[in-house]
Amino acid sequence: MSMTEFDITYYAPGFPAHGNKARASFVDGSLVINGQEVKVPLSEIGVTLGGFDHKQLYLFWHHEEGRYAISPVDGNALEQLQKSTPEPLAGLLKNAVKDASRKARRSHFGLGVLGLFLLLPLLLAGLVVWQSHSIAGWAAGYISIENEQKLGEMAFQQATAGMKLRQGGMDAAAVREIGSRLTQGSKYKYQWYVAEDPSINAFAVPGGYVVVNTGLIQAADSAEEVAGVLAHEVQHVELRHTLKNMLHSLGLRAALALALGDVGSSALGNVAAQLSELRFSRDLESEADKNGLAALRNSGIAPQGMVRFFDKLRKQEGATPPALLSTHPASEDRMRVLQEMIKEQGAWPAKPLPYDWTIVKSTSK
Ligand SMILES: [Zn+2]
Repeated sequence: MSMTEFDITYYAPGFPAHGNKARASFVDGSLVINGQEVKVPLSEIGVTLGGFDHKQLYLFWHHEEGRYAISPVDGNALEQLQKSTPEPLAGLLKNAVKDASRKARRSHFGLGVLGLFLLLPLLLAGLVVWQSHSIAGWAAGYISIENEQKLGEMAFQQATAGMKLRQGGMDAAAVREIGSRLTQGSKYKYQWYVAEDPSINAFAVPGGYVVVNTGLIQAADSAEEVAGVLAHEVQHVELRHTLKNMLHSLGLRAALALALGDVGSSALGNVAAQLSELRFSRDLESEADKNGLAALRNSGIAPQGMVRFFDKLRKQEGATPPALLSTHPASEDRMRVLQEMIKEQGAWPAKPLPYDWTIVKSTSK
C-alpha cells in the first residue's frame, strides 16, 4: 500500500492560534498525523473553506476537547492531499475546491490607479507614522461599512473554519433576539451564531458577526448575564475597535487595499491571525463597557447581569481561566468602575428578559 505524506498546519485545542506544523497521510480509512500520533476515521472528517479569499482548505473534526483541523501548507501539499484522499472524503474535497476557485474568480478586482492617486497622501503619511494606533484609527475612516463588512466576512470565515456553528435552536434564538435589541439602529447588519464549544467565550468580528459559545450559555445564570456580554462585545464592532486593531497589525498596504475595496489583495494575508489577538487597551475596554451599558439602558435591560457574569468568571476556581477573561480581564478595578458607571447613569426601568434560562440551557449543547 502506497502512502503519501504531506505538510500541514495542525490546529488543536491548546495549540497556538496559527497552528503547528505537522505531516499527515491517509492510512486504512483514517487520517494519520505525525506517524501514529493522531488517527481520525474518515467518516468523522468534514471539509470547509476558509482563509484568505475562501481559498484555504480545511479538514476538520471534533473531539471531546473541542475542534481540530488541518490545512495543507502550500499548493504542493494540497496536490498531495488531493491525490491521496480516499472516498468518500475525496468527493467532498472536490466540491470544496471547485467552490473555492469560483469564489476566488468572483472576488478579485485589482487596485485602481485612480484610487492609488487619490490615496497617495494617506500612503505617504502612513509610511512615516504607521506605528501609532491613532493613524490606524484615522485610516479606518477611509474604509466604508461595505468594505468593512467584506473584510469581516473573510475574517469570520477564517476564524470559524471547522467550528460547529448554528443559528437554529432556543439558545441561538435568544442570542439573536437579545443581540438585535442591543444593536437597534446600528449601521451594521448583525449575524448571530452559537458555536458548539464548551469553552466560555464570545467574540464579535468587524461588520457584525457575533459568535457565542455554548460554554458561555451554560456558564450564565440568566439572560441578563448573556445580554451583558453581548452588549460589551458588539461595542468593539460599533466603535470599530477590532477593525482599527486589525488595520494596525496588517499595515498600510492592507488599509489601502481595503479603502479601495480590494479585499482580494494579498496585502490582507491571513486576517484571522489578527483576530486571534483580540486584546484591547484598557481605555478601549472601558469605552466598550460604557457604551455597552448605554445599549442595555436603551434596550431596557438591567445592567447587573453584566457585572455579575464577569465577576463570577473572575472568581471561578481552576487552573485555566475562561477564554473570555484572557481577552477581557475582569479585574477588581474594572468591576468597580462598572459599578460606578451604573450608579452615575442612575436606575433605569428594566423588564426581566422573557427567557427561562434553565430551560434555554437544557436545550443548548
Ligand atoms: Zn472587550
